[in-house]
Amino acid sequence: LFVSGDLAAGGEIEADPQQSHYLAHVLRLGEGAELLLFNGRDGEWSATVSAIRKKAVRLCVGGLQRPQPAAAGLIYCFAPLKRERLDYLVQKAVEMGAGVLQPVVTQHTQVPKPGLDRLRANVIEAAEQCGVLAVPDLRETVRLERLLSDWESGRRLIFCDEDAATNNPMAALGAIAERKLALLVGPEGGFSDEERHMLRALPFVTAIPLGPRILRADTAAVAALAVIQTTIGD
Ligand code: SAM
Repeated sequence: LFVSGDLAAGGEIEADPQQSHYLAHVLRLGEGAELLLFNGRDGEWSATVSAIRKKAVRLCVGGLQRPQPAAAGLIYCFAPLKRERLDYLVQKAVEMGAGVLQPVVTQHTQVPKPGLDRLRANVIEAAEQCGVLAVPDLRETVRLERLLSDWESGRRLIFCDEDAATNNPMAALGAIAERKLALLVGPEGGFSDEERHMLRALPFVTAIPLGPRILRADTAAVAALAVIQTTIGD
């Protein structure tokens, strides 16, 4: 269960109303039930239910079971999609170990102003479901031009380009010397010719293909994250 506050062995905390309902009425936990807590900062803690009150479940914090792993360094830059597909895309990015989620507005982006609170809740839910302790950081939405003009030196941007010059993503990724990486996947409508031209001209960009077919943006995200994970690692 994700808790936003500090955790300390022997401490007592109160689950928020939504979580209390989930623990008491969905999972039907009773006093003494054991569970695992994480706050996205110091790792995974054991805990037991110490009291089931009308509106809140109180938890007694045990010990640190698993220290917080270093957050993966990969910045996943994505054009926000419509609701369900965006939920899926964010969940897969969390599962696949993205360290930072960066919404990017491009010329054909469908949802230029995604609800970040909802997205943040999805990120935490995905982390709870797949046991990712290092909850990725969700950044404010930026326009593509701004993202590129403020680019962090020493970080390589891997750009999913269905017209990439190479047809071997592994070879293209294998040639990357930088350890700090970012990934950019376009919107359902794709990048404009102007955007592609701009991206291909940048010295810190590596364009990779993801096979001969045009993938949906959320499919491309999973495929690209898998290729990066298997070729380069975290
Ligand atoms: N440009 C596509 C078209 O012609 O309809 C639509 C874009 S595709 C649905 C969404 C994004 O996924 C693309 O901008 C690209 O970043 C990525 N993508 C999809 N298929 C790909 C492929 N075969 N190779 C590399 N990237 C791909």
